[in-house]
Amino acid sequence: MSSTKGFNSVNNFINGEWLSAEHCQTIPLFNPSTGEIIGSVPMSTPDISNLAVQAAAEAYPAWSATPLPKRMDYIFKIVTAMQENLEQLAYSVALDQGKHISEARGEVSRVIEIVQMTCSVPTLLQGETIQGIANNINGRVIKAPLGVFCGVAPFNFPALVFGWFIPVAIATGNTFVYKPSSESPLFMQEMMKLLIAMGLPSGVVNIVHGDRSVVEAWYDNEDVAGVCLVGSTPTAKAIAQGCGRTGKKTMLLGGAKNFLIVMEDAPMDLLIENILMSGYGAAGQRCLAVSNIAVVPEIYDEFVERLLEASKKITLGDAMDADIFMGPVISSSAKERILNYIDIGQEEGATLALDGRNPRLPTKNRDGYFIGPTIFTDVTPGMRIANEEIFGPVLSILKVGCINSALQMIRDHDMGNGACIFTQNSYYTEKFINDADVGMIGVNVGICAPHPYLPFGGIKGSLVGNNKVQGKDAVDFFTQNKTATVRFVNPKGNDATLTKPADTSVRSCVAD
Ligand code: NAD
Repeated sequence: MSSTKGFNSVNNFINGEWLSAEHCQTIPLFNPSTGEIIGSVPMSTPDISNLAVQAAAEAYPAWSATPLPKRMDYIFKIVTAMQENLEQLAYSVALDQGKHISEARGEVSRVIEIVQMTCSVPTLLQGETIQGIANNINGRVIKAPLGVFCGVAPFNFPALVFGWFIPVAIATGNTFVYKPSSESPLFMQEMMKLLIAMGLPSGVVNIVHGDRSVVEAWYDNEDVAGVCLVGSTPTAKAIAQGCGRTGKKTMLLGGAKNFLIVMEDAPMDLLIENILMSGYGAAGQRCLAVSNIAVVPEIYDEFVERLLEASKKITLGDAMDADIFMGPVISSSAKERILNYIDIGQEEGATLALDGRNPRLPTKNRDGYFIGPTIFTDVTPGMRIANEEIFGPVLSILKVGCINSALQMIRDHDMGNGACIFTQNSYYTEKFINDADVGMIGVNVGICAPHPYLPFGGIKGSLVGNNKVQGKDAVDFFTQNKTATVRFVNPKGNDATLTKPADTSVRSCVAD
């Protein structure tokens, strides 16, 4: 076992206590940069999953009754704790997820911004009032918590998904059960230690590790108010079905296949720089990774030449090595899946212009799960490599006649997470913003993640249901609106207004 700063045992955390994994089966946890086993992860039974829900349900009455400023104290403390422990947290992300350490720092820094945005929850919770619906009658909408929420994370953004779900859920008065991905559980393990150190009451946040059976236990559990997921579309649909049966609220962000459109006036240096980050960052394992690049004929040859030249310079190696650009993919099975897509691309008749199958690696990383930048040209929209989510550093380049054909390709695709265009032309820009059939649009920026003040989420197959993370949308998801109609009556019976004739327009809704 390698030196891993003591990150070697992952445990469930329920009702303020770490549970030993003795009573569970465990699976090994790998360092994808080296292929070494660095720890083990419990595969919890449905009973343990329900125990965590019970702990959260028991903590809910006191937590939801805790005055808002006191709840917000914890949110401010999360910001400070994450700032003070940024290196440790980033290390935990890079170690089991394999994301390059500078990207891992970027992910944790983005979460700090999200939690800072969560500090505005009191303003977003203010509800509405309307005075004078009738004599001595006012109307009011209040935003109330719902109870226990459960969250499920994908492997590729262990910190970000914590940030999207937990701070806003607990700030609004709910309690939480969280299932990290069993391929990247270390961030939440470290984060939980910080939540404990700041004195968060027992049961407010609980962690259960395991596979889909942990999640499936929630569908029939009456204490669960809602389930949120960031993951693949088939998983999102499975959860929608399970929760739909029992009427639970859901927020389900699914998979992606993102297009980048290159017009004839694209600023070339900026374009290449953005594709390197967007296509090869996190080894292509981002829901906002660029995957299909559609290029107009006027600039096609120059673009392909520049992209190949820049991609050949990408260095691969250990996620902890500051000097390299790209780390590994998450697992040996992910590597197999991506290699299989490279075979499929060749069988379909695309040209393998850059082959990443045998990248040059430092000796210590020879058993890691690496694939270098891979580029297909001569890709057409019907090919599987252009349609299916590969989730690796594989780019498909398509030739496209004009902006309308590019927009049609985006419209025809089942997924609708993000898309972007590189151009300096205001007509193309406005047309693209108007007509691109995706949830998140970029202009002269790689497939970009909206700032935490704004909603984040796709459309079509990339979002199951209608609820998105971040900003006001997240506060709306984790609360329910209640509408009150209030007649105020003077207990002494001598209020002058009471002597006025009754207003018949409101009789039906304030009937005695
Ligand atoms: P996944 O769907 O395989 O797993 C996600 C989580 O769901 C894991 O914790 C897993 O244990 C659990 N799970 C798996 N099958 C389940 C089932 N049938 N029922 C209940 N739970 C189940 O996804 P992954 O491979 O971990 O992550 C990659 C996927 O996540 C990609 O498709 C990527 O596009 C997507 N993703 C989307 C976004 C977004 O913002 N839309 C962000 C990050 C990742």
